[in-house]
Amino acid sequence: MKLDILVFGAHPDDAELGAGATIAKEIANGKKVGIIDLTRGELGTRGSAEIRDEEASKSAKILGISVRENLRFADGFFVNNREHQLDIIKKIRKYRPEIVLCNAIDDRHIDHGKGSKLVSDACFLSGLMKINTEINGISQDSWRPKTVYHYIQWKNIEPDFVVDVTGFIDVKVKAIMAYKSQFFNSSSEAPETPISSQNFLDSVTYRARDLGRLINVEYAEGFTAERFVAVSSLADLI
Ligand SMILES: [Zn+2]
Repeated sequence: MKLDILVFGAHPDDAELGAGATIAKEIANGKKVGIIDLTRGELGTRGSAEIRDEEASKSAKILGISVRENLRFADGFFVNNREHQLDIIKKIRKYRPEIVLCNAIDDRHIDHGKGSKLVSDACFLSGLMKINTEINGISQDSWRPKTVYHYIQWKNIEPDFVVDVTGFIDVKVKAIMAYKSQFFNSSSEAPETPISSQNFLDSVTYRARDLGRLINVEYAEGFTAERFVAVSSLADLI
């Protein structure tokens, strides 16, 4: 299956938190979007790998994701090496996306910056013909996505561009709330974490509102780019 957009996240819920509304909007516009989670988030203080598997597939249904896979790298400890790059290259060549979204370039959780660089490097390497990969004994053609963009996570990184996601914030919050074990729930007895507070949950909408305010729309999500953001006409800018 060919996808228009492939979204990578170090942990299940990274994609939703960073770009959930943009994903929902692109799908509503007819784009095919997939998510590849690098780990099962098994070191998370709350929940378990099994619970998070279930939550991730529930969220994928809410967003209308075409395909969601998990590479089962080691949460907290995966590294940017040849073996992990090849695993990601195989997915890029399998789904041939034009656009890749991945983790924030720098963040509080060490997996986010690591995952960001790992996916970026794999996107470049995936375009090299002499790197041979195969799936089920069939060799894959090289494929390099046209662009790689990084969503914004815990830290307030200044975006290079923002996407108007007005009308799609509710579905984003619904997808995030599919991760019942992770986020604010007044009846939960599980230990508190930085992301389980009411403030963090509220930040999903107030940050989007603030980015929206700055571009005169209701809600927006921000991204950083690895090269200049280009448009074919000035009219493409809102
Ligand atoms: Zn994460």
